[in-house]
Amino acid sequence: MLMHELIHIEHGHNSHQPPQVERIVESETAKRLLPCIETVARNLADVDIATAAEALWVTPNVLHTRLNSLTREEHAFLHQRGTEICLARLETHVQTVSRP
Ligand SMILES: [Zn+2]
Repeated sequence: MLMHELIHIEHGHNSHQPPQVERIVESETAKRLLPCIETVARNLADVDIATAAEALWVTPNVLHTRLNSLTREEHAFLHQRGTEICLARLETHVQTVSRP
C-alpha cells in the first residue's frame, strides 16, 4: 500500500524492517488514512468491518489496525457512541480473517 511505503520513506527505511517496526508503520498508516474517529464510528454503526472498511475506502486490515491503536479518548468516544457492539464483532472478525 502506497501510504505504508511513504511512511517507510519518511522514516528513512530502505530495507525490510523488523516486525515491531512494521507494526508501528502499520499503525501510523491506519491513523493517516483514518484520521477522524467520528467518521470511523459513523461508518461502523450497524455494519460489519468489511462493509465499514469499504465505505471508508480502506482495507478491513487497515480499519482493524486503526481500531487496535485507539487513544484512550478515542476508545471512550466509541464506547459512548455504542460502538462496543461493533468492537465485539471485530473480535470475531480477527479470528476469521487471516493476516498477510
Ligand atoms: Zn512495511
